[in-house]
Amino acid sequence: MQLTLQTFELPLRHTFTIARGSLDVQPTLIVELEQAGRRGYGEATTNSYYGATLESMSVALQAVSGQLAQYTLSDSLDPAQLWNDLAPSLQANPFAQCALDLAAWDLFGKLQGLPVWQLWGLELERLPVSNYTIGIADMGTMVAKLQEFADWPIFKIKLGTPHDLEIIRELRRHTTATFRVDANCGWTAEETLRNAAALQSLGVEFIEQPLPAEQWAAMRRVQAESVLPIIADESCQASADVARCAGHFHGINIKLVKCGGLTPARRMIAEARALGLQVMVGCMTESTVGISAIAQLLPLLDYVDMDGAVLLAQDIATGVRVERGVCVYPELPGSGVELVQRGQRLL
Ligand code: MG
Repeated sequence: MQLTLQTFELPLRHTFTIARGSLDVQPTLIVELEQAGRRGYGEATTNSYYGATLESMSVALQAVSGQLAQYTLSDSLDPAQLWNDLAPSLQANPFAQCALDLAAWDLFGKLQGLPVWQLWGLELERLPVSNYTIGIADMGTMVAKLQEFADWPIFKIKLGTPHDLEIIRELRRHTTATFRVDANCGWTAEETLRNAAALQSLGVEFIEQPLPAEQWAAMRRVQAESVLPIIADESCQASADVARCAGHFHGINIKLVKCGGLTPARRMIAEARALGLQVMVGCMTESTVGISAIAQLLPLLDYVDMDGAVLLAQDIATGVRVERGVCVYPELPGSGVELVQRGQRLL
């Protein structure tokens, strides 16, 4: 397989603000793997919270490009085996690992002539519907964002401000859609328990990551006493975190870049199910390359947040589309991704 790396600057439709900061342009790394004239694509965006930069990801991937040139995907070497083989070299950089794994699954499906979900024996039935995410802004802007996507059935509202309940009360005046809230580590245990009761009566279905990631003792109390389900995001990054989340959360939000791709995500889903945890997959502000990979897991999930490409002013790829929260799959093999732009070539 031949490895190619390119970078893009993804322009956002609106400034996106969460409890930790704001973003107008999202840099992203696109991995291309080529074998026998077929090309698979994977993605990892940069992320300051997780320390993922274009440079750190490209250095990690360039270090395995020679090894990749020796590999040929086949019935006896699927992307999961490739992930295991390269894990010793890439495990310190799960974002790079993710971009490569997504490209390998897209390529493998294209070589086999089947969508990835079908390779895994899944069926596209009873699929969860994605939320549309509304970042923190002044009240008028948040209402305008909701109204711009008024036909979506679920909204995920970013919170962690001094007036969180007022935000939800105001948004509720404008829609009957389901709400989810994500405090991105911005609340205390007391605030979470107090807010949960009020939010339940405002049509909120769950709370994502209310407390800072390491506050496990407080989280146990919140899990036991909250009237709303609590879903781990920052507290659940990789496979090793899933078992610890049982008893501290009601479910986990897996992100492909946090855990290192589709291969470990499938393992985490199986482990979470065995522990009785609900399972969500979330996205970053990313292009249709990454979103199309998430779509392959959809039959396995309770909840999904895959509006990343919808948040962009301009996309760089075609593949799976998300329309009013509903996933529309192309009739193409792999993840169905094709690039429609060229980025800045790194390798
Ligand atoms: Mg989150």
